[in-house]
Amino acid sequence: MELTFIGTGSILTARMSASALVDGKLLIDTPNGAMKAIRRAGIDLMGIDVCLITHFHADHFFDIVFLFLEQGLFAPKERGLVLIGPTGFEERVKQLFELSYPGTWETVSRNTSPRFIEFGEEGGEWSGNGYRIRALPMKHTTPIALGYSIVDEAGARLGYTGDTVHCPGVEELASSSSVLVLDTSFPHEKAGHMGLDDVEGVASRWPDLQLIATHLGDEVTGSSKPNIAFPSDGQTFQVPAA
Ligand SMILES: [Zn+2]
Ligand SMILES: [Zn+2]
Repeated sequence: MELTFIGTGSILTARMSASALVDGKLLIDTPNGAMKAIRRAGIDLMGIDVCLITHFHADHFFDIVFLFLEQGLFAPKERGLVLIGPTGFEERVKQLFELSYPGTWETVSRNTSPRFIEFGEEGGEWSGNGYRIRALPMKHTTPIALGYSIVDEAGARLGYTGDTVHCPGVEELASSSSVLVLDTSFPHEKAGHMGLDDVEGVASRWPDLQLIATHLGDEVTGSSKPNIAFPSDGQTFQVPAA
């Protein structure tokens, strides 16, 4: 499994907002500017066939409009686009189109034939397109925030927390992943986000687990823990098969 960071930053930083692409086809979050960044990286946006959303904050969600425009405005995408996210996902996409490009949703939804899979605060499971995906409850400032476990057919196991404070779902992801991407916005827990000290605690409890810090604020620059990586925008990692 190949994991590429489209963005690694929190809101008020020069980094792109946090999102990641798995194998060039499974996108985790659609923050502001993500589609431009994917184009700039030379990646084909028509190759994305599954999109996971962790929660509906703009720095994770608002580029969903441009994902639909890329795939459905001029060149119809033959396969259905699978969209997995919190309850209310489809309704919010329609509202965003109504606010931004009224009358366009009919065209892009016809061309992309989207399939929305919505999970409540308890999470859930979905399998398809070569992946087994589990949504787990996280704890953030939105009513529902989901972390994801993504397992491919070769047994590679990726965990991705999205925005969250340290909670049981983070430890559940740690126990079921070989690579885990974590919200590391601040030095210490703040405003619904983990601190570096929380992430270092996970690193100590799971010394064999590769951790990758993302949603980075400018105050977080590195760690003495050997199993925490601090990626740059555009950087790619390999998630080993079982
Ligand atoms: Zn958030
Ligand atoms: Zn965020």
